Amino acid sequence: MMFVISNIVLLPKPKGESIVQSLDILIQNPNLATSLKDIAQKVKDGIRITFDEGVYLYEHAELSYLGVLANYIREKKHGDLTYFNRNFHIEPTNICVYDCKFCSYSRMIKQREEGWEMEVDGMIDILKKYDDEPVTEVHITGGVVPKQNLDFYASFFRKAKAHRPDLHIKALTPVEYYYIFKKAKLSHYDGMKYLKEAGLDSMPGGGAEIFHPEVREKIAHDKCNAEQWLDIHEQAHHLGMRSNATMLYGHIEQFWHRVDHMERLRQLQDKTGGFQAFIPLKFRNQNNQMSDVAEVSVVEDLRNYAIARIYLDNFEHIKAYWAMISRETAQLSLNFGVDDIDGTLDDTTKIYSMAGAEEQTPAMSTKELVDLIKNVKRKPIERDTLYNVVTDYTEHVFEDEVKPSYYKLPVVN
Ligand code: SF4
Repeated sequence: MMFVISNIVLLPKPKGESIVQSLDILIQNPNLATSLKDIAQKVKDGIRITFDEGVYLYEHAELSYLGVLANYIREKKHGDLTYFNRNFHIEPTNICVYDCKFCSYSRMIKQREEGWEMEVDGMIDILKKYDDEPVTEVHITGGVVPKQNLDFYASFFRKAKAHRPDLHIKALTPVEYYYIFKKAKLSHYDGMKYLKEAGLDSMPGGGAEIFHPEVREKIAHDKCNAEQWLDIHEQAHHLGMRSNATMLYGHIEQFWHRVDHMERLRQLQDKTGGFQAFIPLKFRNQNNQMSDVAEVSVVEDLRNYAIARIYLDNFEHIKAYWAMISRETAQLSLNFGVDDIDGTLDDTTKIYSMAGAEEQTPAMSTKELVDLIKNVKRKPIERDTLYNVVTDYTEHVFEDEVKPSYYKLPVVN
């Protein structure tokens, strides 16, 4: 299979040549700028690149160069293994007290009649729909409303765990937690501890956007700031919980803002080791207050994945949400540092489609997801939230697949 983006042709995975050979050829290329050669050598030697080098990559490195470096790191860490999980989403509300300019999802409190606001029992009813499904995770996220407070979520977590103890609850972000802990007059640590005891298992990576105040003030001025976001993750990590981190890129930020964002995450990860995956989220411009801002190209998406893989040397996984970037770009991303394409989520999530993602009804069966990964010569691994292997689909044949037929050969003695 071959992909064409604009006039760039990308093959799924170089054959014959090892990732080490590809990197060596690159380093020995006499036409490569010395700075790029030095960065490539650092990657080969396992040396962390600096802030300035991160910015330099964004400003000067071509996609093909970045692909070699990112793929080298990806394959050193994971080989061809490509992770996904079976999960479903519950979005308790799409009403929000905040006013993020890029948000296509929320209805403000004053537009309450256009939104939904679930009760705990309604959320449990959704959870029960998956009783017979082999899902391992429920992912909960949405808007922020006063009624869905600390007790609301504690009550939901307790009921969910009582109903299905083995289902991993990955829920909310520091945006919700900062709001509800403040209302409950609890410290970040005490609030997280309380909810962990109620059944919360881990935290997704949302709400990070761009940390630097120069940008954050313009796109998300009224919700938790970078320090608060990072502190809530830090407290969760201290409690033994794992979490992810995102970055909303491709709008009004400059390249150095992206590096600043990743630098803050890299520093916290050095301290706690609690992050599992970094997830770059592409800014989409439909139905929000930033519709006049053009979206970046797929080439920029791939460059961004690759630089994230190079910069965040202490993150195990780089994840691409296929539902947000399209199946084709998700496949391509597997050659640019990504090793996880999230889950077989169904259309219970509205977050991506409302922002203008290609996938308007984001549902993919396990077979489709496995095929998507195998078609670019990678090995599909179903994981649980904590990256334990649930099923290795490398050699798996689905029952409805047409199996090759064999002729009986004559027995020759
Ligand atoms: S991005 Fe999140 S916090 Fe911001 S307005 Fe939308 S739902 Fe609310």
